[in-house]
Amino acid sequence: MDPRLNALRISLLYLVLASLWMLLGDHWLQMVFTEPAQLLRWTTARTLALLGGSALLLFLLLHWQFRRHHVTVNALADHGERLSRALNAVEDGVWDWDLRTHRVYYSPGYANLIGLPCEHLSDDFLLWENRLHPEDRNAILAACKDHIDGLNDQLDCVYRILHSDGGYRWIHARGRVERDASGEALRMTGVSRDITRQRSNEDHLRQAAAVFEATQEGLLVTDSRGIIVHTNPSFSRITGYQADDVLGGQPSILKSGRQDTAFYRRMWETLLRDGVWSGEIWNRRKSGEVYPQWQHIRAVRNDQDQLTHYVAVFSDLSSLKRSQHELDFLAHHDPLTGLPNRLLLRERIEQALARAEREQGGGALLVIDLDHFKHINDSLGHSTGDLLIKAVAERLQDCLDERCALARLGGDEFAVILESRQQQHASSLAQRLLEAMNAAFEVDEQTIYMSVSLGVSLFPEDASNVDHLMQHADAALFQAKASGRSLYAFYTPELTARARSHVQVEAALRHALDHDELRIYFQPVHDLASGRMVGVESLVRWQHPQRGLVPPSEFIPVAEESGLITALDTWMLDQACRQMRAWLDAGISLDFIAVNVSSRLFSRGGLEERVALALEQSDLAPHHLELEITESAVMQNFDQALELLCQLRLLGVQLAIDDFGTGYSSLMRLKRMPVHKLKIDQGFVAGLPDDAEDAAIACAVVALGQSMGLQVVAEGIECPDQAAFLLTHACDFGQGYWYGKPQPAQSLLANLPRNPT
Ligand code: C2E
Ligand code: MG
Ligand code: MG
Repeated sequence: MDPRLNALRISLLYLVLASLWMLLGDHWLQMVFTEPAQLLRWTTARTLALLGGSALLLFLLLHWQFRRHHVTVNALADHGERLSRALNAVEDGVWDWDLRTHRVYYSPGYANLIGLPCEHLSDDFLLWENRLHPEDRNAILAACKDHIDGLNDQLDCVYRILHSDGGYRWIHARGRVERDASGEALRMTGVSRDITRQRSNEDHLRQAAAVFEATQEGLLVTDSRGIIVHTNPSFSRITGYQADDVLGGQPSILKSGRQDTAFYRRMWETLLRDGVWSGEIWNRRKSGEVYPQWQHIRAVRNDQDQLTHYVAVFSDLSSLKRSQHELDFLAHHDPLTGLPNRLLLRERIEQALARAEREQGGGALLVIDLDHFKHINDSLGHSTGDLLIKAVAERLQDCLDERCALARLGGDEFAVILESRQQQHASSLAQRLLEAMNAAFEVDEQTIYMSVSLGVSLFPEDASNVDHLMQHADAALFQAKASGRSLYAFYTPELTARARSHVQVEAALRHALDHDELRIYFQPVHDLASGRMVGVESLVRWQHPQRGLVPPSEFIPVAEESGLITALDTWMLDQACRQMRAWLDAGISLDFIAVNVSSRLFSRGGLEERVALALEQSDLAPHHLELEITESAVMQNFDQALELLCQLRLLGVQLAIDDFGTGYSSLMRLKRMPVHKLKIDQGFVAGLPDDAEDAAIACAVVALGQSMGLQVVAEGIECPDQAAFLLTHACDFGQGYWYGKPQPAQSLLANLPRNPT
């Protein structure tokens, strides 16, 4: 009730009662007391009574009012104190925004929310607004406005606010507007709560759920009794079971039966003891396929440490196992031939060495290198080269028995590890492998002849570890190559030293080529019948600053291996042509000058151009130049050699087969070769005239030459008997120390036949 109305009522009531008292009192006194003095006394008494009553009434009213006021004030104070205690106690921030003045009351909790000391709180609206996250600011202000405009029942929004530590806090604010009777918004009061932790928990939960759904690992959750309560999509992908198939069931549905009960017992023991178990396990898919998986199971406990769930995470290992197997195979095998590679060979050697030590056994490592394989690649292309490598691998494999293992070391190198105590097994195997190469290879519609060289290192004699064994076999291989290829050689300690010196010789030879240390020597060739010197053979020498004159046998193999032979032979060719031109110009009557052509150079290509250039630059007629090609070089790759010989012949130069008798030429092939001369190898001349075998060979070569219309030269004649024997058997020319040693042009000069002037 309106307090003013109440006061008015009471006052009016008092006025009426006081007036009645006065009026009725006057009337009654006048009736009772007629005497004026008495009447006056009673009238005064009545007035005093009225005053006394009024004072009493006033007292009572004031007393009642003051008491009420006191009670109210006390109640308000109590209430205020309780409210402030409550506001202090709650972590939430309470705010009260006066929409007309834009002053805001922030509770102490609010100060806490934004990290401000309470005393720094003001009632400024900007205290809040300025702290809003720029990305949230517009949205939250719009939400406030909507609510003030009456579009929403209440303000309910989430936003970020700047904390004094520089970071942002997530706030959940709820508030409501208070309006006057006309509906105008007066104030908005509300509560703000820091939900940062809750948000991050939610984020984590959301992320965990996303991981759970998206992970490649299968997930299976059971309750404490082992009943499946949850699976993820990868579970279905891996096992083939949809969630509905398994929910409520037991994981044993996945059992493959590959593991025995002892396995599962151990798994459960570990799980119960440690709370986790990891391991490989074979399961069965819905399709029935059994597959390996890597599984991790964890027991989950609640806050009271009671077991609530088991979570199993697993990944399918089948493709990994497959690719591991493939990778393992690739890492240990040569892709072209499928043979074990160097890595696997090393492992096998290690095993063989260990076995040999254990069982007092032994064996050999044979390193096999294809002779001149590079030329095949260069001339016929790499794909033909690859096919040839495969064919060679097959042929080598055919020669092996169960004591041997073949590997490809790379390029044109193979190796065989042989486990046998008997040394002759190694040499007979080496011989077998060499002979296996005799037959031609039919590759890519081409006939290719291929020889191999072998280096053999024995264990435990030569080496007791893999590295040494391989190094020694390599050294032996080098020796085999240096001795003329298509051979095998065993390792001896000197070989290692020789291999080392090879490297040094190569460097020195390079230096020699650059610093004019090479010399050209000439050895006369005589007509046996007339005794006349008809030509010379050019032979290279190395004028070494310390070692003196070095014979070609010591550096030609190195030059061939390193490729320096091209430069060397080109140099010799140029020098020889120039010298011949000079001699001819000086009136010396020589028919030819012979130049040796390395088999390497011979099959490398470009020889024809080089010869033509040398002739042109020296202005020498081609028929004065004779090229000596060794028999083995021609036979190694006959078809290619034949083509080149034809081209050289077209140039007009003379062609001779050097060291004839050592290269196993077939008559069929010899017949097709467009050459002019055969040079009987000095090995067959040495035994003449007494050695019957040498004599037979020498005679056969001469007869062969004659029958084919070829001239025959005998090399290495050291005594007149040899010359006489050869003349008797119609050999055309002779060369050897008896006629003259290889010497520089200058010292040869005196003996050179001059044209009659
Ligand atoms: P080759 O072409 O068969 O040369 C003949 C070799 O026999 C020469 O050895 C020569 O000195 C030697 N000789 C000649 N007459 C006699 C003799 O009566 N008794 C003995 N015991 N030996 C005699 P050299 O000069 O040491 O050459 C050896 C081999 O080196 C040559 O054999 C040839 O294949 C190669 N060679 C030499 N010079 C060159 C060259 O410039 N380029 C190439 N690629 N190879 C060369
Ligand atoms: Mg020669
Ligand atoms: Mg010779």
